Amino acid sequence: MKLYPLFADMHGLPVLVVGGGSVARRKAAALCDAGARVTVGAPRLDDELAAQAVAGTIHWQRGEFAPGWLDGMWLVIAATDDHALNAAVAAAADERRIFANVVDDAACSRFHVPAVVDRSPLMVAISTAGAAPALARRVRETLERVLDHALGALVTLAQRQRAQIVRRHENLAGRRAFYDWLHDGPVLPLLRAAREQEAEQLLLDALCGDEPPPYKGSVVLVGAGPGHPGLLTLQALRALHTADVVLHDQLVSGEILAMARRDAERIDVGKRCGGRQMAQEQIHRLMLAHAREGRRVVRLKGGDPFVFGRGGEELAFLRRHGVACEVVPGVTAATACAAFAGIPLTHRDQAQSVCLLTAHGKAGSDALDVQALGQRGQTLAVYMGVERVDALTARLLAHGRAADTPVAIVENGSLPQQRVIVGVLAELPALVKTHAVGSPALLIVGEVAACAREHAWFGELVDGHAEVAPAARTMQMEPA
Ligand code: SAH
Repeated sequence: MKLYPLFADMHGLPVLVVGGGSVARRKAAALCDAGARVTVGAPRLDDELAAQAVAGTIHWQRGEFAPGWLDGMWLVIAATDDHALNAAVAAAADERRIFANVVDDAACSRFHVPAVVDRSPLMVAISTAGAAPALARRVRETLERVLDHALGALVTLAQRQRAQIVRRHENLAGRRAFYDWLHDGPVLPLLRAAREQEAEQLLLDALCGDEPPPYKGSVVLVGAGPGHPGLLTLQALRALHTADVVLHDQLVSGEILAMARRDAERIDVGKRCGGRQMAQEQIHRLMLAHAREGRRVVRLKGGDPFVFGRGGEELAFLRRHGVACEVVPGVTAATACAAFAGIPLTHRDQAQSVCLLTAHGKAGSDALDVQALGQRGQTLAVYMGVERVDALTARLLAHGRAADTPVAIVENGSLPQQRVIVGVLAELPALVKTHAVGSPALLIVGEVAACAREHAWFGELVDGHAEVAPAARTMQMEPA
């Protein structure tokens, strides 16, 4: 069966929903949302519908269905669980030439309610004529992922300036080029950044020129999360879908890179060439060069770009050089590793604060105020801590953190090969050695780390305490 697609203006029109349960409630809500005047007909209403009737947002027609309810209605939805009653509603509506929909009954329905992706005023409706609702839902989910949430604002803006655009570009080819610029250029990023006025001004400036302004390149600093592709944000995925060039760190997994636009150029800036990693200045220059050539650059970094990712330096450099930038946060290793190890970073009686720190960096852990870190009740999430685990442990112990403070080492957090090793602070260096902990790994120090013993739900759990040689244990128990 082939249907005729239709978007209906329902403002102020009376419509009827037959049924008083949760399905009727959903249908009534969508119709109210579109501005219709909704009557709900049923002997009884569920609590929420009853509250809406009292509030006056819907009208309640109390009682058993009678065809007279249809008088004056523009359309009706039958949403009871009584198949015969639904069919009777549809038949009575047909007689009166009123469009009827019967929930979950395509054969009885004169119109269908599609699955929708709402970026109003842009609205995408999906129908399989009732043949495969699950597929319609699947298509909807896909579109939800790819359609930017700022598109609604773009459509509103274009609508407001439509007359101007048509006047300025009377010839069709010119108008099409202008719209291409509007859809692909710098206006949408401004709308995403909640800067409507600037976006509108840019559009007006562009209308003054003879041709749409040339594409200016841009850079999006994107957090790719800890490795698990499911932890990518929707905004990160959209940036990858539109990127011309992806400059990525080594930590970013192949699965995530595969999600970038197929013909995007991928450059590994984390690769060690002849034993040396690309210098930060070189990465800066590369981003700038690609942006200046008018490309959409994604700078893809592990975790969150602003947590031990040098994202701050990159943003400052790009802005200093006048490059348009956006930042998309990512799930940082601390929250990801904790979640995947069953360790709540804060926990009512055990931890009231969390500290993200690195034992690496310009001055190493010497620069840290370890005094504060020695306190009970604070969870420490240590990035890049494995290499300096001896010094770190010694300092924490020397500053009063108890030798039996629980610790967890999360190696390859969120990845299939994840390993969580639990023990206590005094034996942390021994745990790292005994279990040959590799990279990347995050150290969690604090009372909450013990939760992994009970609540680890992903990958492999090793109770390291039981496995560290007794000699190593006594040796490490002496604070350095
Ligand atoms: N910007 C990143 C951190 C980069 S520093 C973020 O927000 O997560 C690199 C350090 O992060 C590693 O040495 C390790 O300590 C930690 N790390 C990153 N990914 C990790 C993972 N999947 N599992 C465990 N630790 C990880």
